[in-house]
Amino acid sequence: MKRGEKAKKKLIKNEENQKDIKQTVYMSEKDAKKAIIDIGQRMYVKNFVAANDGNISIKTGDNEVWATPTGVSKGFMKKKMLVKVDLDGNILEGTYKPSSELKMHLRAYKENPKIKSVCHAHPPICTCFAIAGIPLDTPILAEAVITLGNVPVAPYAELGSEEVPEVIAPYCRTHSGLLLANHGAVTWAGDAYRAYYRLESMEYYANLLMLTEKIIGKRNILTDEQIERLIAMREKFGMQ
Ligand SMILES: [Zn+2]
Repeated sequence: MKRGEKAKKKLIKNEENQKDIKQTVYMSEKDAKKAIIDIGQRMYVKNFVAANDGNISIKTGDNEVWATPTGVSKGFMKKKMLVKVDLDGNILEGTYKPSSELKMHLRAYKENPKIKSVCHAHPPICTCFAIAGIPLDTPILAEAVITLGNVPVAPYAELGSEEVPEVIAPYCRTHSGLLLANHGAVTWAGDAYRAYYRLESMEYYANLLMLTEKIIGKRNILTDEQIERLIAMREKFGMQ
């Protein structure tokens, strides 16, 4: 690609991003902190995280993100443990340290301004698929086609390294979430609860894929026409 074309493309992308940001309405900081604690408890009760695993973040301004701390069980968080950072990861508020996995969240916000919340956990069945390197892409469930679409497996990246944001970046504008090879799952959305529900839906979908393939041994796959009709319904469900 010529340099001029590349610059023009970048400019258009920036303009699109600016347009998206201008239209953005953020969750209040008070509600965001409450939602992070609430979602953390749900993750813990659902067995999506062991010990101090997992992290949740919510964007509350153009350059402000509230996030979970490292070294704390997500089932037992208090408001004072939460940390506010900017999109470069600088701490703006809070005394606890954010997770090294927060880099992945911040990259998702930078890649796609429509993302306002990111949830990362290690739900057991999703994680088994991630370990096996098998994407969740067999259309057997109407709800999964509408709310998730295909869930690819991002390549393996070492925990907390700069590789993690790199491997997720290509999917932030096109997918609802990902499996992280030999690690876990991540989802994002325009609001916190939707991002979390996507994680629940992903684990449920992974469970049905496993049961129908290995236990039942038979599954009827949705036809292309059925899938197209479901995709057309996404807008009705408030999805893009
Ligand atoms: Zn993790």
